[in-house]
Amino acid sequence: MTQPLVLASNNRGKLVELSQLLSPLGFALTAQGELGIPEADEPYPTFVENALAKARHAARLSGLPALADDSGLCVPALGGAPGVLSARYAGESKSDAANNAKLVRELAAHVDQSAYYYCVLVFVRHADDPQPVIADGRWLGDIVAAPRGQGGFGYDPHFVVRGLGKTAAELPAEEKNRLSHRGQALRALIDKLT
Ligand code: IMP
Repeated sequence: MTQPLVLASNNRGKLVELSQLLSPLGFALTAQGELGIPEADEPYPTFVENALAKARHAARLSGLPALADDSGLCVPALGGAPGVLSARYAGESKSDAANNAKLVRELAAHVDQSAYYYCVLVFVRHADDPQPVIADGRWLGDIVAAPRGQGGFGYDPHFVVRGLGKTAAELPAEEKNRLSHRGQALRALIDKLT
């Protein structure tokens, strides 16, 4: 039996990655946009607050259990930026190309090129669930100025996976799912749910 689950995001990349990971467990993921649900605001300074706000919003408007992710790239040399502002680092157009150009520009003067992706997932059974299930994951890497690879999305062409020497955009989807911050968070979430 499949269990319907609303994904509180319309990001195509995330929907594809999370569906690949969740469909073997019997969850049928629907993006909130397909149900006519508008995106929630993400006004908070922490990933977990934003994810909880998004999950509640989707559950309230759909009447279904909801899963939200909030994620981003954190760069220690930039004080943790772009962080919770990763999607709109270079402005409200949410352009990957503009975000990547800004990242490379801002980091050029720094010796430390290390970075990590962070992801928090929040699952709520209903909008007023008093015990949301929360899990997170972190993926270490280093930023390179010259983009490489065609896969993934966002900052992936500039994110060299620590210990692999390949960018996240050079990895096959299954390998990215296995290693990534989102994959780690999802496995932790599944452990908590079962
Ligand atoms: P969110 O939709 O508020 O969680 O924003 C996440 C943003 O962080 C995305 O738009 C990307 O810019 C960045 N991001 C998160 N995860 C990834 C990833 O796996 N690869 C590349 N960029 C990512």
